[in-house]
Amino acid sequence: GGRGGATEESGTAPVDGAESGASAAAGGEGTKIGIALPKKTSQNWVEAEEMFKADCAEAKLDCTIQFADGGAAEQQNQVAAMIENGVQVLIIGAVDGSQLGTQLAQAKAANIKVIAYDRMLTNTEDVDYYIAYDNFGVGQLQGEALLNGLKEKKGDKDKWTIELIAGSPDDANSLKFFDGAMDVLKPKIDDGTLTIGSGQAEFTQVSTQNWDPKNVQSRMDTILNSTYPGDEVMDGVLSPNDTLGRAAITSVEQAGKPLPVVTGQDSEDESVTWVVQEKQYSTIYKDTRALVANAVKLAIAVASGDDNPELEGVTVNETEYESTEGHPVVAYLLTPQIVTSENAAEVYANDEHRAG
Ligand code: BGC
Repeated sequence: GGRGGATEESGTAPVDGAESGASAAAGGEGTKIGIALPKKTSQNWVEAEEMFKADCAEAKLDCTIQFADGGAAEQQNQVAAMIENGVQVLIIGAVDGSQLGTQLAQAKAANIKVIAYDRMLTNTEDVDYYIAYDNFGVGQLQGEALLNGLKEKKGDKDKWTIELIAGSPDDANSLKFFDGAMDVLKPKIDDGTLTIGSGQAEFTQVSTQNWDPKNVQSRMDTILNSTYPGDEVMDGVLSPNDTLGRAAITSVEQAGKPLPVVTGQDSEDESVTWVVQEKQYSTIYKDTRALVANAVKLAIAVASGDDNPELEGVTVNETEYESTEGHPVVAYLLTPQIVTSENAAEVYANDEHRAG
């Protein structure tokens, strides 16, 4: 796994003995699952592929795993082919969750169970389940971390100037992260504690096409030039993930300004290092092993006719998540954790992907 470009793999590889959450005892041997992943816009997606492979092998499932680095149209074709090949369950991490309606209608007609993975599928009624970390909660944790970081690192004042960054507008999570963070930050903007230097406060002004860090770097370069001349200081940056957070930090560094308090998400290797060094203030831990293992368990259960499986340690919300207005999707939610230099060692202690 982890190569560039689209990959096509079936789960016929021998059981490799890797640690896995999907136990063979859960049954489901031979279950045919199509796993559609988006672009490799962050480390978690690359790791998800490896974990899906290991868990599918462990449970002896027949899995097809594909990335859509080419974008939404490529993913439409991949999902259509999976349906054509007779999968029983689709697990979809969408590039653009609003663009798969035609394929999902075909899946429905073929009696295939559809699980939205990490990102909600929208503009369709043909979604059965959603499994993800609580992404509104991720945003709230980011907002709180930004405030705490400003008090901790920039405590010589009690009013701060910040900038906002949001994720890609085609990813349903981006608005969740942003709304969660604004739930915490908006009152502080309204009472004057926080000022947005550039004045760019709307999601549409601060979102980042394709989650591409180059877009953040050029936007931040422009803002630094226009809004922070001379000794003007950017105290903090709300960033929805690590990739974009590092781009913001790099931009400020290159402008020769003091480091702002910057949030992140995903616990990517380089950002974990930066968090420990206190160069990036925070990240979020959404253990991909648990998300993948539970997605596989859910797929096995629903393929065998158990429509409402319980997953240990996972909360079920049947009402608040909708794929389209009036169509609630059963949501299985895992709990994200905030990480700073304070608790990093403790949080990552049991994750061989993050140790050291
Ligand atoms: C995921 C994040 C990730 C982002 C960019 C989101 O949908 O939830 O963990 O940082 O995609 O890949």
